[in-house]
Amino acid sequence: MSRRRTPLRMTVRPMLVGAALLVGCAGDNSSVFADPHTPSDPVLGVAYDAITADDLLRHVQVLSADSLEGRAPTTIGEEKTVRYLESQFRAMGLSGGMPDGSFVQYVTMRAYTPHPEASFHIGSRQLPLAFPNDYVVVSRQGQPTVDVDAEMVFVGYGVEAPEYGWDDFKNVDLSGKVVLMLINDPAIPDPRDSTKLDSTMFRGNAMTYYGRWTYKIETAAARGAAAALIIHETGPAGYPFSVAINGWSRESFDIDTPEQRAARVIVEGWLRQGPAEELLSAAGLNFAALKAAARQKDFKPVPLGARARIRVRSESYPVQSRNVVAMLPGSDSLLRKEYLIYTAHWDHLGRDTSATGDQIFNGARDNASGVSQLLSIAKGFTALPNRPKRSVIFAALTGEEKGMLGARYFAAQPPVPLSDVLAGINLVRFNTWGRTKDLMVIGHGSTTLEDVLNDALAASGRGIVPDPEPEKGFFYRSSHVELARRGVPVLYTHHGLQFVDRDSAFGRQKRDEYTSRDFHQPSDEVRPDWDLAGAVADTRVMLDVGYRILMGSSWPTWKPGSEFKAQRDASLRARGSR
Ligand SMILES: [Zn+2]
Repeated sequence: MSRRRTPLRMTVRPMLVGAALLVGCAGDNSSVFADPHTPSDPVLGVAYDAITADDLLRHVQVLSADSLEGRAPTTIGEEKTVRYLESQFRAMGLSGGMPDGSFVQYVTMRAYTPHPEASFHIGSRQLPLAFPNDYVVVSRQGQPTVDVDAEMVFVGYGVEAPEYGWDDFKNVDLSGKVVLMLINDPAIPDPRDSTKLDSTMFRGNAMTYYGRWTYKIETAAARGAAAALIIHETGPAGYPFSVAINGWSRESFDIDTPEQRAARVIVEGWLRQGPAEELLSAAGLNFAALKAAARQKDFKPVPLGARARIRVRSESYPVQSRNVVAMLPGSDSLLRKEYLIYTAHWDHLGRDTSATGDQIFNGARDNASGVSQLLSIAKGFTALPNRPKRSVIFAALTGEEKGMLGARYFAAQPPVPLSDVLAGINLVRFNTWGRTKDLMVIGHGSTTLEDVLNDALAASGRGIVPDPEPEKGFFYRSSHVELARRGVPVLYTHHGLQFVDRDSAFGRQKRDEYTSRDFHQPSDEVRPDWDLAGAVADTRVMLDVGYRILMGSSWPTWKPGSEFKAQRDASLRARGSR
């Protein structure tokens, strides 16, 4: 970290592009600071100039207007959003980013509402289960009814992580089985201090991708399991079972392609801890003992001597939404076949017609603001006298609020081969409270992109701050993770915490205030007190980082120990032999 210790103080003044001026300023001392808008390369001055607070605000106002009704996929909000984005990209002179030259990628999805029945059987004994209080499941196979009646196997955390020498499966055949697994990644105590987690295993207290339920269910599917049930524990899950009930017992969406169906188990879901403990004790086992065993490297899957009978009747119907994809082709005849992708999800929660009062979830920060940054960065690049050597793709993605579905589709059916993509940069929820001395990197320590960011920030005397809550796994909860899963190094930032001319608690306070008051609420709206000076600086830096990658001599990489590194290495080997 190269966070500058010099106090940064300034009042609003016209920016001086490209001038590495050191300016004394009003205040209690004669401290000096770099110009807050100094690009890392003077050639970027015009691009920095093209990114303005007025534009950032205007795009958010358009996209979060009540007339867009909260930008839910398939609504009039989608229609208006897609039209706006395409017209903006066209006006900048960008090309359509799809292989056929169009700006639209159609995303085929399916909506599912599950009506399940389930019970466990041990010999002649039956353990009935109540939906949704004991369990929640869905079947995303496009079938009106599916039946699973199979042996149950406890597979510990359901993790195979070569970089930690960890394999919960030990080549045990799971085809056709119902697997039962623990949530989060293996909680290995520190051998020197058992009150802490071992920081050398699964990044200690920080969550890794292995801890996410999505990973677990995909891994079970890859091993041929018929069904996957995750035991819900409130602590390691990070939320109570009621959240699982809300998310899983109502209508939900999924990508609907043959590959996606093949990558799914027939039935997937969660089992509440209480019924899980009852099942295990009826099978002569003990939950605490199984958990302890699952924290050991030599853990082997444990057959329960029990069967699960699960029938899921599903109401389902097809849904189509759209990603909007634009491209600025590179200027170098060879390197233009290499790409950088900026992503931002355009969708939000829509409208709740049953609510009294404000029904519209405007999603001004979430994520009209990220889309506004996407448009502004595109404008910045087109302002350059010479296009960068490599190509830039700008992707406004749908269905994030329904489970990152637009991102998933985009990564599964990418407009260019992902082995030709140098990196992804995801844009969410810009800073509305003024300038910061730092910028927060979510998933700090993952890729060399944060080093590029650090260099770009250093030009204006700023630095990086790591995510203060890595245990919450924010890195795995936004669009870029779908690119990461396929090996593409990604950069994901949130606004900084050290605000200029504010006390040190201000950043955390604003962050918490937004989370508790406005996040996913109708009150996420444009406010008259917004100060976009920080958003302008951050957006410019994101263009700067992109430019350095597009012009650079080396590709960004995952840092050692990253769960996505092996995937990238394989994809680059395949690229080399192409
Ligand atoms: Zn959201």
